[in-house]
Amino acid sequence: MPDDQPLRRIVIVGGGTAGWMTAAPLGQLMGQGEHGARCEIVLIESPEIGTVGVGEATLPTIRFYNRTLELDSAEFIRKTQATFKLGIEFKDWGHLGNRFFHGFGEFGPAIQNRSSVMHWLRLHGLGGMESHEHWSTATVMARHNRFVPPDGDVASAANAYTYAFHFDAGLYAAYLRDYAVARGVQREEGTIVDVSVRPGDGFVTAVTLADGRRIEGDLFIDCSGFRALLIEGVCQAGYDDWTHWLPCDSAQAVPCARVEPLTPYTTSTARSAGWQWRIPLQHRTGNGHVFCSQHISEDEATATLLSHLDGEPLAEPRTLKFVTGMRKQCWNRNVVAIGLASGFMEPLESTSIHLIQTAIARLIDFFPSRGFSPVDIDTYNRLSRFEYESIRDFIILHYHLNQRTDSAFWTACREMAVPPTLQAKLALFGTHGRIVRENNELFAEVAWMQVMLGQGLQPQGYHPLVDSVDDSAIGEYLHSVHQLIQRCAAVMPDHARFIAEHCAAPRN
Ligand SMILES: Cc1cc2nc3c(=O)[nH]c(=O)nc-3n(C[C@H](O)[C@H](O)[C@H](O)COP(=O)(O)OP(=O)(O)OC[C@H]3O[C@@H](n4cnc5c(N)ncnc54)[C@H](O)[C@@H]3O)c2cc1C
Repeated sequence: MPDDQPLRRIVIVGGGTAGWMTAAPLGQLMGQGEHGARCEIVLIESPEIGTVGVGEATLPTIRFYNRTLELDSAEFIRKTQATFKLGIEFKDWGHLGNRFFHGFGEFGPAIQNRSSVMHWLRLHGLGGMESHEHWSTATVMARHNRFVPPDGDVASAANAYTYAFHFDAGLYAAYLRDYAVARGVQREEGTIVDVSVRPGDGFVTAVTLADGRRIEGDLFIDCSGFRALLIEGVCQAGYDDWTHWLPCDSAQAVPCARVEPLTPYTTSTARSAGWQWRIPLQHRTGNGHVFCSQHISEDEATATLLSHLDGEPLAEPRTLKFVTGMRKQCWNRNVVAIGLASGFMEPLESTSIHLIQTAIARLIDFFPSRGFSPVDIDTYNRLSRFEYESIRDFIILHYHLNQRTDSAFWTACREMAVPPTLQAKLALFGTHGRIVRENNELFAEVAWMQVMLGQGLQPQGYHPLVDSVDDSAIGEYLHSVHQLIQRCAAVMPDHARFIAEHCAAPRN
């Protein structure tokens, strides 16, 4: 029989985005209630070891997280200097001059139970059809710098979009820290210098801080970032290195002054040995260059980054090194790794904060007692792996589909062998334009389709059953949907104006 005694104390190691994002919902669930704390939660952060401090672009799922915490939306936006994000604009990825958008939301309504994309593929093959992007409301809004939240009560193609946020990662962590501490999470400042384990099974029993304080716990959540202090340093869970598929291993980040217009989207521009991000916030613009150090020196990478800023730099560029991949086991013994301690796949599709959220949700689903059931841990690890690998494939897709001929880096990305799971997705799309979202993987069919078509991959055919519908009637219908989206976007407020009127942060 497993030991079903409830946990007495949870120790979260690390106070970056992952640590405070974990502490907030745990504090909400089991912090101090009217009968006192049900389970103590202690978070340790080191003043000497800073946080990564980047991580400014998110996915629409962040709104579920914020809603679970019952955060006030306007207050959250003001406190984190946030802006709205309708998707990502990709420049120069397919080839120099190529430009496409990954917008959040749907593509027009289904026609006779077939996705409107299938009808579009057929008409596009016949010629004279505009870009598929005309049927993405998020994309049309983004191209015009418009923003207003969708009206969930109105079923219309013009409402078929969703959105995320760009925010200041440091301010978000501080906001969640206040939330968690108010719900009974204890914050300890100090650097962990020693870890005690139980003889026999190696479970972690306590951590010791540099000043000699010893903090015991039943469950340890490793949010120590790339250091992976417990999951690797103590448990040696192992790491699957994916650099042969995702070869970028460095990034430089630098903020610059805000410029107009305030775009409601992230921009990702491919460079000769990587890519550069641009993330607009209310008080500044975040920029970074993700690159492969085998193909470009740090000095050249810095020069590339700085020469493409659209505002005055506000700091010196900061370099970060990483190895793309994931922990072989995200949960080992009584240690669960969340955040960068569990793995990293580079920020191309802003997936890391989402992975923090789902790890927390999974931990709550498989919440342990002091007995730590091995079957629960195995299931947690299997689900984490599936999630990581399906996101990995989507990110590899961006690199692999390129047709650039200007650098050895892009040639290598195009010619590399991709994972069999991605090969299968490409083969399925290549014949009839089909995409299957398996086991509720993060990225939906429409996301894959936008990247595939956006980078110029055209399927040989389309769903045979769409031939049964009259093509001129479908053409007219698609045209009317496009007109509706255009008309609605034209009367939406400008992104900057919407923020100024509803949720502007105080100007310093
Ligand atoms: C270049 C880059 C760009 C990114 N962009 C995005 C993005 O746009 N969107 C997105 O979703 N994600 C992005 N990410 C990922 C995102 O930054 C991270 O997922 C997020 O910040 C979580 O980091 P973390 O909390 O795991 O680690 P960290 O921020 O590194 O925090 C680690 C914590 O552990 C503590 N610690 C470490 N060692 C000790 C010790 N010995 N004793 C006590 N405390 C210790 C530190 O003090 C710190 O508090 C990006 C990452 C990188 C590298």
